[in-house]
Formats: sequence, structure tokens, C-alpha cells
Amino acid sequence: MKADAVIVGSGIVGMSLAISLSRQNKKVIIIEKNFSKNLNNNRFYALSEKTRTFFENINIWNNIKNVNSLREMHLYYRNFENRNMINFRRDDIQKKNIGYIAQSKEIMKALINEIEKDNNINLYDNCLIEKIDNHDMEIELSTDDKKNIISRYLFSCEGSKSNIKKIFGIKNIIDDYASKAMVFNIEHEKSNRNSAIQIFLETGPVAFLPISAYRSSMVISIKNRFGDREMFNNNNICSYLEKITNNNFGVIKADSKIITFNLVGFDSETYKHENIIFVGDSAHSVHPLAGMGLNLGISDVSAIDNTFANKKQIFEDKSFFSDYARNQKIINKQARQQLKLIEKAYSIENDIANKVINITMKSIEKSDFLKDGIIKYANNNISFF
Ligand SMILES: Cc1cc2nc3c(=O)[nH]c(=O)nc-3n(C[C@H](O)[C@H](O)[C@H](O)COP(=O)(O)OP(=O)(O)OC[C@H]3O[C@@H](n4cnc5c(N)ncnc54)[C@H](O)[C@@H]3O)c2cc1C
Repeated sequence: MKADAVIVGSGIVGMSLAISLSRQNKKVIIIEKNFSKNLNNNRFYALSEKTRTFFENINIWNNIKNVNSLREMHLYYRNFENRNMINFRRDDIQKKNIGYIAQSKEIMKALINEIEKDNNINLYDNCLIEKIDNHDMEIELSTDDKKNIISRYLFSCEGSKSNIKKIFGIKNIIDDYASKAMVFNIEHEKSNRNSAIQIFLETGPVAFLPISAYRSSMVISIKNRFGDREMFNNNNICSYLEKITNNNFGVIKADSKIITFNLVGFDSETYKHENIIFVGDSAHSVHPLAGMGLNLGISDVSAIDNTFANKKQIFEDKSFFSDYARNQKIINKQARQQLKLIEKAYSIENDIANKVINITMKSIEKSDFLKDGIIKYANNNISFF
């Protein structure tokens, strides 16, 4: 079998990349170990305006069902009181959006519908690569179901546990946040008024993403030194959420399994190894406090797409993806460092730091100019450019 590009991993990043490459008239093969697991992912993501624009360009945005355009976003510091908050509002007249919430499986469905119509893309499910030979200008692959594939490039979109990186000994530069995350969905008695909420607590940031009026998706980060507190037990977590929101949501109940895992950020030491290119979580992972991971992965795909606009080079050239590898590595590293800085600043526990943060938040809350700037920065995937 011959292809221009083999993509390993049919997550949202891998599938978006496949559609984007097909639009450049490239023959694409996707290899996936377990597609149905992906398609049934209940997780909800915060999506930026930049991601929306890219999804519009590849013709899937309007086919993603139940996308929720956020009406408001509130940031609280230490407790759920009005004097410690910054409010962001959608402006329908000036068409300023503050972000979207969409379910992973709805994004996946829109992507697979597009892929099924596309003759340039073949997806092989329940398939694993067994052998990779990196030649000078092509890559040769054999799979566990005896396929032999020759391709110009191999894209690793395998998520944070990339097997290809293991095979080629490519290391990650690790950023251990010394925290764990609890991720689950809740039902609440009172409406969330379509507002996203982030409360920066001493124990770590707690995020509420509105799914519908009476349901929200939770991401609770807990620093390891607080991890064994009773309130973070699965049985107590909902009453803890009621308490930290001053019962503004009324009774809260978990309506999905609570998943707990350690939070680790990283940058791949390289985004390109000979004919292999790393994209999305395979190349980088950031703290979930701003809901940026997937958005940064889609930015990678968009950067790969932009590479084709450079007419000085052709797809076959060895250095065709060198700029992608260099530039995205810098951009994603900066994003990871900025998120870490925000997380660190909000977790300092002393009177001076608390006063400085309170004064800063009050000044931001009073300034539409600063708030506009922050929304632009977030919608551009925490980048000014
Ligand atoms: C708590 C938490 C909350 C988050 N919230 C947000 C948010 O609100 N907004 C946001 O933008 N991001 C968020 N993220 C980040 C987001 O989840 C990831 O960045 C995103 O899912 C990465 O997508 P991906 O396609 O690169 O990888 P994945 O979704 O991990 O997909 C990888 C695919 O590769 C396949 N695969 C793996 N290995 C192999 C192999 N050897 N052979 C074949 N196939 C393979 C897998 O089966 C899978 O289909 C959050 C992350 C966390 C931890």
C-alpha cells in the first residue's frame, strides 16, 4: 500500500489532520488501535475561537451537535464571592465570543462523517504498527494484521503515551504539577446560566463547564499535599462543591464516573524525527486549568496546513515540516510555561501575594480593555500573535 501520509491515532487531532491533508490532495492512511473507545468519550472540551475557525475551514463546525456558546465566564480567587471575581461576557452585538463547550463524541462524529465521504482517506481500526523502517525519503511500516505500507511521512497523533516515541527513544521534557485531577459530570438543582466558572483555591483550580442549564462538566485539580483530605473522596466531592459555591447550584450530584489521574505536563524534545512528525498530545501536554490541550493540538494541525502555503518548498522536501517542528515547539512550550506561571501565582499562600492578586483582579474587572485583551489572548490559544 502507498500513501503520502500515515497518521497513527484517530483522536480529534489525528482526524482533523487527515481531513486537512486530504484537502491538499494527499493520500492518507489512519491507523487506530481502538476507534470505538474514542467515539464513546463522554468528556467535554472548552474550544477557542481559533479552533472554531479551523473546524469551519475543514467543514465540520456546523456538523458538531449541541455546541454551547458560553454566555459568561467567571474567575474567582479563593472563594465564591463577588468582590474576588473577574467576569467575561459574550457580546452578541459586536460578535465577541468567549469560547464554546462541545462533547468529544460529537466532535468525533462530525469528523468521521467527513472522513467517510473522503476518497483520499482510509481508516484502519483495531490495528497496531509492528515495525517501522525510516528510509531516506520514505517510511516503511508493517502492522499486526500484515499490512505493508510505504509513505512519505508518518504523523504520530497517538496522544500523550506515544509508542513511536518509545521506539525511537524520543524523550519528553516533563513538568510534574504534583497534582491530580478529578474529571466528571454533575447535575445541579439550580441553573448555571450558561456560565463557565473557575475558582482558584489554595488546593488547586476547580472548573465548572456548562453542558446544559442543569449539567456541568467538572475538572478539579488537587495539589498532592492536599490529596488525602476527606472532602476529595468520591463520596464527599459533591457536597464539597456545594460548599465552595455557597450552594448557588443547590444540590449537586455526580452523573458520570469520577476519573482521577496524575497531572503531568511535557514537551517532546523534538517535533520531527527524520520522516516522523509529532502532533497534538503526542508532542505536548499542558495543565488543564485553561482547557487548552486540544486547542493547542488543533493549532498544530493548522500550522501544518499553513506549511502548504509556502510555495518555496514542496511536500517531498526533507525540510518541508521543519518550520512546523521548530515554531510549534516554541509556541507550545511558551503556552505550557504561561499556564504554569498562572497556576503558580494563584497557589501562593501569603498575605502579600493574596493582596497583589486581589488588586490585580479588581483592576482587570474594572477595565473592558484588559478583559477584551484577555479574551483575545485565550481565543487565540494563549498567544498574542
Ligand atoms: C482533565 C483534562 C481536561 C481537559 N480539558 C480540555 C479542554 O477543556 N479543552 C481542550 O482543548 N483540551 C482539554 N484537555 C486536553 C485534551 O484532552 C487533549 O489535549 C486532547 O484530547 C488530545 O487529543 P489528541 O488527538 O492529540 O490525543 P488523544 O485524544 O489521546 O488521541 C490519541 C489517539 O491515538 C490512539 N492511539 C494511541 N496509541 C496508539 C497506537 N500505538 N496505535 C494506534 N493508535 C493509537 C488512541 O486510541 C486515540 O484514538 C484536557 C485534558 C485533561 C487531562
